[in-house]
Amino acid sequence: MSDVSVNTGEAAGVESLFRVNDLHKGFSAPAGELHILQGITFSLIEGEFLAVVGESGSGKSTMLQILGTLDRPDRGEMWLDGESIHGLSNGRQARLRNEKIGFVYQAHHLIPELTALENVALPLLVQGVAGKEADARAASLLERLGLAARQHHVPSHLSGGEAQRVAVARALVTRPRLLLADEPTGNLDEHTAGEVFALLRQLCREERAAVVMVTHSMALAHSCDRMLRLHEGRLVSGQL
Ligand code: ADP
Ligand code: MG
Repeated sequence: MSDVSVNTGEAAGVESLFRVNDLHKGFSAPAGELHILQGITFSLIEGEFLAVVGESGSGKSTMLQILGTLDRPDRGEMWLDGESIHGLSNGRQARLRNEKIGFVYQAHHLIPELTALENVALPLLVQGVAGKEADARAASLLERLGLAARQHHVPSHLSGGEAQRVAVARALVTRPRLLLADEPTGNLDEHTAGEVFALLRQLCREERAAVVMVTHSMALAHSCDRMLRLHEGRLVSGQL
């Protein structure tokens, strides 16, 4: 089992961009402690797209929250872009997320009162990018995603696939080093899911971002660079 978590690429002298060592996480429940993550270890090189599959309740979302520093592990270590990120203060983790990590969820979580363009420009404004430049960068990315004609629409006036493409744009507009996607195509029909996934894959490849994508679609998982299964708290080889 240990060889499934071998650091891809490092043998060839390629530095990993994101490295995670022995993450553990438990929750206390009425029936006793739930030891959800029992030693998550893996690493990703630049541009690598990892799919994670696993049964409902196996801890996939819990793992992504921890990888994204939105929750803390009980123990374990993480490094991103040469920096140790597990022991940072809340404030430094927030800055790290804004600068280096993008998130896409099953639901788009766009701000309903803002247009597509405003939603995508927002993370840049948070970074201190001037309004005009933020709008220009957001508009250019939306155009790449085939949404030029929809940029002034609010989320409720977009189709599910369009809204999810806007969410992808929002996650990538800051050019994160790590993208974490939790069932990003889970609400979409198969055809639209394939389209959104293809765009996500293409953009992440161009940006050389490392990606961890949780999915229930074996078809999508098989077309990623690597697939691992979260099983009994550990990442094991995808094919059981
Ligand atoms: P998955 O995404 O694979 O479906 P989750 O990570 O959402 O799984 O949940 C894994 C397990 O951890 C579930 O049993 C869930 O009920 C439990 N869990 C998740 N978050 C919490 C929490 N904050 N408090 C207690 N239990 C939790
Ligand atoms: Mg989940």
